[in-house]
Amino acid sequence: MADTSPSNTVDVVVVGAGFAGMYALHKFRELGLSIRVLEAGNDVGGTWYWNRYPGARCDVPSVEYSYSFDRELEQDWNWTEIMAAQPEILEYANHVADRFDLRKDIQFQTRVESTVFDQTTNRWDILTQAGETFSARFCVMATGCLSVPNTPNIEGQDNFAGEIYHTGNWPETGVDFSGKRVGIIGTGSSGIQSIPVIAEQAAHLTVFQRTPNYTMPAANAPLQADFLRQAKDNYPNIRAEQRASQVGIVGYGFGFGGAENVEPTEEIRSTTAEERQRLVEEEGFLAIRRYADIALDEEANELACDMYRAQVGRMIEDPVTAEALMPRDYPMGCKRPVIDTHYYETFNRDNVTLVDLRRGGIDSITDTGVSTAQGDYTFDVLIYATGFDAMTGALGKIDIRGRDNQALTEYWEAGPRTYLGLQVAGFPNLFTVTGPGSPSVLSNMLVSIEQHIDWIARCVADLDQRGMQTIEATTAAEDEWIAHVNEVAQNTMFTAQSCNSWYLGANIPGKPRIFMPYVGGVGVYREKCDEVASNGYQGFLLRA
Ligand code: FAD
Ligand code: NAP
Repeated sequence: MADTSPSNTVDVVVVGAGFAGMYALHKFRELGLSIRVLEAGNDVGGTWYWNRYPGARCDVPSVEYSYSFDRELEQDWNWTEIMAAQPEILEYANHVADRFDLRKDIQFQTRVESTVFDQTTNRWDILTQAGETFSARFCVMATGCLSVPNTPNIEGQDNFAGEIYHTGNWPETGVDFSGKRVGIIGTGSSGIQSIPVIAEQAAHLTVFQRTPNYTMPAANAPLQADFLRQAKDNYPNIRAEQRASQVGIVGYGFGFGGAENVEPTEEIRSTTAEERQRLVEEEGFLAIRRYADIALDEEANELACDMYRAQVGRMIEDPVTAEALMPRDYPMGCKRPVIDTHYYETFNRDNVTLVDLRRGGIDSITDTGVSTAQGDYTFDVLIYATGFDAMTGALGKIDIRGRDNQALTEYWEAGPRTYLGLQVAGFPNLFTVTGPGSPSVLSNMLVSIEQHIDWIARCVADLDQRGMQTIEATTAAEDEWIAHVNEVAQNTMFTAQSCNSWYLGANIPGKPRIFMPYVGGVGVYREKCDEVASNGYQGFLLRA
């Protein structure tokens, strides 16, 4: 039974106080609703609270990776770099929390363990790890797509006697690597961002790489005052363009990764080998940005991969290390793009060793380090940069039960099922923010978060206006939406057989291989969501 004290009985419980939960709180307050936000961490910021590893940084231009809901906030906040580093983004989150007095409705150090729909009251009963209960009409899961760190199950992993860290759960106090031997497992975005910074401080760094990645140079730089002024003056246009775009990024002033904005319009299949070689020599990795056909055609993509490998070969002094760093056997663009600052240059340093696990994998973790088929490695510090149980991980950790006590984990046993990434059939008045089936992680998340919260708030207001108690996706609408999500993902690099991305759940043993986000684009998706709402919530069942 939920606590019936007035303070724990609210209109909306929001789980999570990252950018989604923070905006949800602000937005629902505007509707005059009572809200409680429950957050496992000690403070706001979500991703940017937990991922404090050295080198952590946004890869979307900061003027675009920011809230758009308040004109004055937009005008007052001054980003200092093209792409902000984690401390600055966390400072921004704190500024927003102070400015809108958010903390008074957020309960920190509160992990939600279960949430159960009570069919007699049409309310959700929420239970926290500490045993506290809440009752809410609406439950908004702002639990994050990348908020459950994945630590692989490696034999002997508890044996290591030195310091152990995960990039996704970095200590608030920071870590001093001076004079230490460090080992790091993983070369996704988190590994690629942290490796160059750790290498500068540590006595020695050993990088364990299972799959080499495709990464582009970040071209980050301080933001010039006149540019920032111009961007602020242009904000209404920038925001409108973001909302109508494919990925929520317009590249205002600079393109992907802060480099000069280049629209991919050319066909790599129309070029000669000599031309491609010349372009690599002139422009390095960035030469590849001009080609449109590499996103859809695997043979074209392979030509781009050749250009990529040629540039790796040009940058790395030791040929064996160069070969180890060359991605092969999967297409460029099938995983989340990675951008870096001096990643490849780091492997030319004397204090960095690359262990190519394709030549012999990790056998076990020992008390002094890592034992592989190629030999043993000893360190003082071991870092897991091994990613997350993405998109469904945080929801799966909560015992969510809808009608007839059905568990969400059972309903999703064969993979996540949602209507529009917003709701699940059988789970009335429960909303997922940037859930599977929405553009989510394929987009600038701030744009997608605001769109989802705005839609949910409109929906709640409409229900109240029409005197409705509950809203629930129908199974038919869910089926149709899933079929559409799958259809648009076909014949893209994302679903290539050779691709083992976390978008597909392929990084977690036993997770069903399903392409989870929606490729249709944030503009198209927004129109669809708005149309559904305007048509009386087509595909949803509203009950009085
Ligand atoms: P989160 O920020 O993940 O917040 C979710 C919160 O929910 C967390 O604080 C968590 O503690 C809490 N929570 C979860 N489960 C529970 C529970 N059971 N009980 C209580 N609390 C719970 N996106 C981009 O668009 N551009 C980028 O450049 C970019 N860079 C990234 C870099 C890193 C290192 C990572 C990990 C992600 C990055 N992302 C980026 C994605 C990023 O997650 C989103 O941009 C955004 O911050 C997500 O906000 P959120 O509020 O939805 O989720
Ligand atoms: P990730 O992309 O999933 O990378 C995890 C890495 O760990 C991979 O190299 C993986 O190798 C390796 N790994 C996992 N298990 C292993 C094992 N048992 N043995 C050896 N290696 C193992 O995770 P991430 O780097 O944390 O990034 C996750 C997402 O967070 C990104 O895609 C992005 O969306 C977001 N992010 C963004 C930024 C940014 O630039 N703004 C920075 C960090 C994170 P395999 O590839 O072989 O599986």
